[in-house]
Amino acid sequence: MKFLLPLALLTVMISSVSAQERKIEFSTVQLSDTVYMLGGNGGNVGISTGEDGLYIIDDKVEPVSTQLLQAIRKISDKPIRFVINTHYHFDHVGGNEMIGKTGSTIISHDNIRQRMTSVQVNNFLERTFQPSAEPALPVLTFNDRMSLHFNGESATVYHVPNGHTDGDSIIYFSGSNVIHMGDMYFNTMYPYVDLDAGGSIEGVIAAADLALSLADEGTRIIPGHGPLAVLEDLKFYRDYLVEATANVQVLIDEGMNLGQVIAAQPTAQWDEELGRTWITPPQFVNFIYSSLEDIHRYTPEPAEAVATD
Ligand SMILES: [Zn+2]
Repeated sequence: MKFLLPLALLTVMISSVSAQERKIEFSTVQLSDTVYMLGGNGGNVGISTGEDGLYIIDDKVEPVSTQLLQAIRKISDKPIRFVINTHYHFDHVGGNEMIGKTGSTIISHDNIRQRMTSVQVNNFLERTFQPSAEPALPVLTFNDRMSLHFNGESATVYHVPNGHTDGDSIIYFSGSNVIHMGDMYFNTMYPYVDLDAGGSIEGVIAAADLALSLADEGTRIIPGHGPLAVLEDLKFYRDYLVEATANVQVLIDEGMNLGQVIAAQPTAQWDEELGRTWITPPQFVNFIYSSLEDIHRYTPEPAEAVATD
């Protein structure tokens, strides 16, 4: 059940045809007098707008940078003063270079800048990411938390360690009662845990617990991917992560290896609802198993997954 609808639902569709004939569409939802969520084509973007100007949280994938700027300009034509990156993944920092060149100051946790200035091997995506160009790099970095006092409210950026990656932040807008969780929250689908970048299921659960401690029944919660959420959705997420992790631990304690744990289907009760969009049930179980066993690298599921009796 959803407790609240957005104050105003404003849908801005910006369509264009790329070289690949792909449609680019963003959905813009107003969450308070000053805060918006911009969904579609990469991670969900948060926007603060008001008398002081604009700042944004994340900026999607690089090929849609122009369209992202156009969508932001439909909300306000004031300068974009800051960009806060929730983590280093390409679908959250892709617009850094173009928006940075408009004069924005890019802000992130220390580990994001470190990963963006070095080669990153992602065994899950089977991709290697080269260092980012200088204009795309964060120029202000922090190690724990920081606050922005802007557009009539304070927003606190909390580093949440070793969850989706080792450099994630969640952002709490105290006046607007909005939390942007970046990829610590995948709504309506199993989460991706980037084991190659310091992620762990325990860190994802800890981030959900922090967000729950900040939220009340009026809080609107922006996930990194998926639809806008409310408290009840986040509680469901946190509870199934805890329960799934406990289920896997029981099987590990019985002496099962990864293939056997996957074959035992410890997440079966949620697989139909959450395991069909992106992360599959075996991949989700793999993330949990590897976290609990301290395996810091994603390895494909064994071809032969045989359960013991
Ligand atoms: Zn991510």
